[in-house]
Amino acid sequence: MLAEIRTEMTESSMTQRDKLRILVTGGGGFIGSHLCQRLLDHGHSVICLDNFVSSSPRNIDVLQGHPQFELIQQDVSLPLTLQVDQIYNLACPASPVQYQLNPVQTIRTNVAGATSVLELAKTTGARVLQASTSEIYGDPAVHPQPESYWGHVNPIGLRACYDEGKRCAEALFFAYHQQFAVDIKVVRIFNTYGPRTQLNDGRVISNFTVQALRGEDITVYGDGSQTRSFCYVDDLVSGLIAMMNSEQGFTGPVNLGNPEEITILELAQKLTEMTASGSSIVLKALPQDDPRQRMPDIQLAQQRLNWWPSTTLSQGLARTIDYFAQELARVNRTSPAGQPIHSKDH
Ligand code: UDP
Repeated sequence: MLAEIRTEMTESSMTQRDKLRILVTGGGGFIGSHLCQRLLDHGHSVICLDNFVSSSPRNIDVLQGHPQFELIQQDVSLPLTLQVDQIYNLACPASPVQYQLNPVQTIRTNVAGATSVLELAKTTGARVLQASTSEIYGDPAVHPQPESYWGHVNPIGLRACYDEGKRCAEALFFAYHQQFAVDIKVVRIFNTYGPRTQLNDGRVISNFTVQALRGEDITVYGDGSQTRSFCYVDDLVSGLIAMMNSEQGFTGPVNLGNPEEITILELAQKLTEMTASGSSIVLKALPQDDPRQRMPDIQLAQQRLNWWPSTTLSQGLARTIDYFAQELARVNRTSPAGQPIHSKDH
């Protein structure tokens, strides 16, 4: 990918002065751990802040012991006193099942968490990137979704803790930018998948893959005609880094995602085939406020960041299936009964 090549070239010619001290909140999570790894590979020092509420410290096992890596086990909403050059704010459970377990905490993490990283950026002069989400578009009436679309969100529904929390965080980022000239970047992340998702994460690709590998029923919610567009985690990480290092004053918001749209039923069929599973597809009730369709318009990212995803769904799913097969083998060795996955039992 062009953006990636450009970043790699910049990094390879980096002097000591160019090496940055970078804070990644939620750095132990699925996307965060891949981001920490890439930043270390690029020669930076990385401070990973996480309370592991929805992730596993195993995600960062490979990074522990790296001389430029430091872990702070702490909630993002607590005040931060660190000297850093850049901050990626990724801290928040992102799976609907996980973020609805403790909705008050989800709102707090988004709003107080954004405030704490923005205060740190204000004090230190660090550039700060907010991992916002396609969820701010809600159940969209415009398709595909451009950044100019204001969204269609139920402010009191089950998803509101995440959707409105993230919308408030965006508002806070722009308020700190306007009022205090904080150097902000905002990206809206669409559905992302890949290795290091938890077995019991509850999102669709992990649920279907684990169900298929275990030979259990594959639980499609509704009739499966709702759509999503799935971005492989390596592509997403390249987009995050491209946005963080984009020109001064370009704040976004910018959509990051893969515009390859698929229905959930087609996804279930594809994963059944790819895993050669004997599982049956069963239909369950559709959860409240489940968006009917979702697909990013990524023209802005293409134009301003020279970024677009290069991993096809088949390539990304193959790597993800390998990961889950290894995870299941590991779990079976330690507890043969296995770990139940979170699926809605309507
Ligand atoms: N979904 C499903 N079966 C599952 C998990 C999810 O059919 O076991 C559906 C869900 O209802 C939604 C889509 O898959 O329409 C994507 O759900 P996910 O939780 O991954 O993320 P969302 O995009 O809704 O935030």
